Amino acid sequence: MSNPIHFDSLCVKERPEKRTTDPHILPIYATSSFSFHSIDQGIDIFTGKEKGHVYGRYGNPTIEVVAEKIATMESHGLGIEAAGLMVSSGMAAISTMVLGLLQSGDKILTQGNLYGGTTELFTKIIGRFGVETLFTDLRDLEGVEQMLKANPSIKLLYFETPANPTMACVDMEALARLGKQYGVYTAADNTFCTPYLQQPFRQGVDIIIHSTTKFLNGHGNSIAGIIVAKDVEWLQTKAWQAMKLAGTNCNPWDAWLVHNGLKTLFLRMDRHSQNAQHLAEWLEQHPKVERVNYNGLPSHPDHELATRQMRQFGGMMSFELKGGLEAGIAFMKKIQFCTLAPTLGDTDTLILHPASMSHLNIPKEVRLQNGITDGLIRVSVGIENVGDIQADLEQALG
Ligand SMILES: *Cc1c(COP(=O)(O)O)cnc(C)c1O
Repeated sequence: MSNPIHFDSLCVKERPEKRTTDPHILPIYATSSFSFHSIDQGIDIFTGKEKGHVYGRYGNPTIEVVAEKIATMESHGLGIEAAGLMVSSGMAAISTMVLGLLQSGDKILTQGNLYGGTTELFTKIIGRFGVETLFTDLRDLEGVEQMLKANPSIKLLYFETPANPTMACVDMEALARLGKQYGVYTAADNTFCTPYLQQPFRQGVDIIIHSTTKFLNGHGNSIAGIIVAKDVEWLQTKAWQAMKLAGTNCNPWDAWLVHNGLKTLFLRMDRHSQNAQHLAEWLEQHPKVERVNYNGLPSHPDHELATRQMRQFGGMMSFELKGGLEAGIAFMKKIQFCTLAPTLGDTDTLILHPASMSHLNIPKEVRLQNGITDGLIRVSVGIENVGDIQADLEQALG
């Protein structure tokens, strides 16, 4: 239909697209639904005869390009196929994976020092639906094997390596082998490393989840997450269905921001790692510092394991101040150049004193059990000039 339509209809109707060449950069498809060319196409898509977009909660072209890119990064050089499903956050990735994988009566086996939100999700939410979580030290491989033997209802072995706040690592290859032996899925949260530094598929892990909010985006401007799996069929049916029906889908704008960040991932991770290594070596010699937790230091208990699993040691570290809580608060008060923020993986250096900030309301015994001592400072080392970061830490320690 052409002109003249009435003015009010002109206001309402979409116009035909005018593009004659392809956009150089991925467009943001800001649309909640997709229109069909014909009734026949609509029927074919609804009955699954033809692939096609229907409704934004089920899938969106912007989001799918980003998901495929991250899945390709996670399987890069390994000669395997993998697919990715982007969701609304890192937490959505974990909850959607559990919804798509487990059922009432199944159990999860994991470690005590998980990301705090993950522990709460497993115990406070998932637990109410009949999926119990067992916590153990996943570095004790004999202990893990005994638990797998004693509990045939364990269906998922879930881990983070390295993990907050001490950068403790677990042996993914050994855990993946135990998973295969006992018919248990293995899943790794690879948020701290990104596929540039560590590819859990290389060690035989089945599923990888990310909070793309952190290093993958890198610029601190979107919340999103992804599930990457070698079992493409599972991802595109069970996991996709869980996302679609629980409504944990990502939105195209946040996915696009991740896409923008991914272009400099390798440059950023190189610099995060270089800066962190420099600062860790310097801090380790500092008279006011008791201990530095960084995988790149030969003094770290998991240095050898980290060297096997990671290409570089990334931007995350923590250190213990002599002088406990008071020293921690005094240090934080003096920080000027670095940012006091409860996130990680951004381009700028972020500092957290868990005892007085994120863990203020957690009983001291519980906090200590998780390695969060009074004088512990966590740093997400940024990509600024390392001299500026060091100067700020130095004057704050002074
Ligand atoms: C931040 C984070 C999460 C949760 O991600 P959100 O995007 O905040 O939901 C999960 N795991 C790790 C290791 C994280 O750092």
